[in-house]
Parts: sequence; structure tokens; C-alpha cells
Amino acid sequence: MSFDSDVTVPRLAALRKRYQADLDRALKNDHEENSALWVEFNTNRLNELPRPMCANCVHLQTGMRCRLAGAVPPPEVRENGCEAWEFDDIPF
Ligand code: SF4
Repeated sequence: MSFDSDVTVPRLAALRKRYQADLDRALKNDHEENSALWVEFNTNRLNELPRPMCANCVHLQTGMRCRLAGAVPPPEVRENGCEAWEFDDIPF
């Protein structure tokens, strides 16, 4: 999935909130469009949001080093990212 601007932790939270609100409206069947399609569309949008981790962060360098930290992040940060995470949008 491509996004219209860089995805940071705050932007990811805002996107998740917006997509969830759209999904909730579709599930209540009060959306002006066909609700079944909107349920599917918004479920897919939520599922396609990236999960923060070092492996998909623009700040990751070779050798699993973080450019910002100047070190290899600990396992829990590698798995879940940190507040400085920024999605690299590169699909490999
Ligand atoms: S520690 Fe944070 S900023 Fe550094 S690569 Fe991992 S997620 Fe990105």
C-alpha cells in the first residue's frame, strides 16, 4: 500500500483511527455507500497499515544499525519500532 505522505507513529495512529471510524459506520450500515463493500474496503485498509518495526523503518542501516541511535536496537525495539519510526514503504 502507498500513502500520500510519510507515515510516522502519530500519522499511523491517525490513519488507524480514521479507518476504524469508517469501518464502524459501515458496520452500523449508516454509510451512504454500499455497506458490505465499505466493510470490506475499510477492513482491508486497517489490515494493510504497516506495523512499526525496525525492518520497515527509513532509519535502519546495514547490519541492523539504527542511524538515529548509532547502534543496533534491542530485540523489543526491533520487533515493535520506537517513537522515531518512519515507514520506508519499500516492499522488500
Ligand atoms: S530504533 Fe526506531 S528509528 Fe531506529 S530503526 Fe528502529 S524504529 Fe527506526
